[in-house]
Amino acid sequence: MKKKIIIYIFILLIGVFLGKLAFNDKIYLEDIKILGDVRKVLSTKDILNLKEYKIKLDSTKKKAYKIKDIVKLSKPVKKDFNVLFVGSDGISSEISGDKLNASFLYYSKENKWEVINFNHPINGNIKKIKDIVIASQTKDYSHGVNIINQEKNIKNITPGNLYKMSKKSVLYKQGETTKEKEDLSYNVSQFRERKLLPIKDIIEYKRALIMNSKGNEKYINSSGYLELKGNTINYVSKGFKEKIKDIKGIIINPTSNRNMNLYYDTYHYIKNDEKVLAIFLDGFGYKQYEYAVSNGYIPFMSTLNTKKAMSVYKPVTNAGFAAMITGKIPKENGVLNRSYRELNVDTIFDKVDELGKEGILIEGDIKILDTSIEPKLNIDLNNNSTIDDEIYNLAMKEIKKNPDFLMLHFHGIDDLGHKTGHISKETMESIKIHDGYVKNLVKNWEGKVIITADHGMHTVKEGGDHGQVRVKDMFVPYIIN
Ligand SMILES: [Zn+2]
Ligand SMILES: [Zn+2]
Repeated sequence: MKKKIIIYIFILLIGVFLGKLAFNDKIYLEDIKILGDVRKVLSTKDILNLKEYKIKLDSTKKKAYKIKDIVKLSKPVKKDFNVLFVGSDGISSEISGDKLNASFLYYSKENKWEVINFNHPINGNIKKIKDIVIASQTKDYSHGVNIINQEKNIKNITPGNLYKMSKKSVLYKQGETTKEKEDLSYNVSQFRERKLLPIKDIIEYKRALIMNSKGNEKYINSSGYLELKGNTINYVSKGFKEKIKDIKGIIINPTSNRNMNLYYDTYHYIKNDEKVLAIFLDGFGYKQYEYAVSNGYIPFMSTLNTKKAMSVYKPVTNAGFAAMITGKIPKENGVLNRSYRELNVDTIFDKVDELGKEGILIEGDIKILDTSIEPKLNIDLNNNSTIDDEIYNLAMKEIKKNPDFLMLHFHGIDDLGHKTGHISKETMESIKIHDGYVKNLVKNWEGKVIITADHGMHTVKEGGDHGQVRVKDMFVPYIIN
């Protein structure tokens, strides 16, 4: 019996030993990363799962992986990209992403991960590769970090291209350990190398506002850095005390005028027993406003005192609308983009109610956000493919009842902007119609009027779009009358 147990234990130990060997066999492969302008960052284990091919090298056959397969698995963000092979000795090569047919990656004990490009000049072959970087060739502000000021889009930096930009190598202290020996202390400090790009190396500025994918915002001075992390770009403050992950934009010399001031201005007036009419013109950007003024499309609104105000990231309806009625950035109110409806904080409608006053919201055919009051919805009764005339008619009726706070959401400018572009004739004609609505509404309203938008619009190949940190999307008119 005892003998049997000993044999079992022996077999078990051999099993553990063999298992360990097999495990070690896998991890002796140096780690390699595929990163940059990709939807999925890959590591060694992803490559090992790919189909193997046999390639002939120095008359011996070797197992290899197709670079094309690796790149495909990483899902490049753009169609046009370059592939950069970075060796751990500092030598790298770059080839175009559309010429990968005869490029293979294989592993050998002496050269570690190595790329061989059978069609390219020999210096394209790199040994001891640590990173394969996908870098977009087209930089069109739709991916990466956009640097803008209030007037123009200045620069777009994608993660793949940040990898290639000169970076400051900084040793970041991670910790300290002490060992006592024979009455003496021996200290060791541990460091990790971080590659950082000082923002002031890209652009001169004194003050800027950073926005990230989670709707967070932070004002920064001129001492911060950009740091690449896989397929995102982080902001790191001087001294590494603060970090903002996955930043989308840097707004140089930003304005403190925000469309979310609608919340504070409305509250201020209502508290002082003034009535407020808030007119929300969806997708009416400041650039469109300027164009409409100089081309005579808005004879009424152009007589009003208008400020340039900034929206939030992401400049889409739900996030812009939520910021307007809560006075808070998306990170705080919980509405980051189109897929969010629930609010984490009170809205102006709750505040108006708290003051014992009546608030009304008039919408199109859907309730966009989960507000405490039910919006009065409308449908296209006369079938003229816009609900804005119905919203206007209902508003004129409601005005007669003299509510304390009336908010109207017109969607027609955004609809035509998407279909035909931000300053197309069709979009401008729609803006003109809304100018007429605004004129009559203001005439009939006894109290304050606030007019603003959730976001702007920029023209794309077919029609228009919004949702990025760029001047046309981020800045909107803000009018108090
Ligand atoms: Zn919108
Ligand atoms: Zn839109």
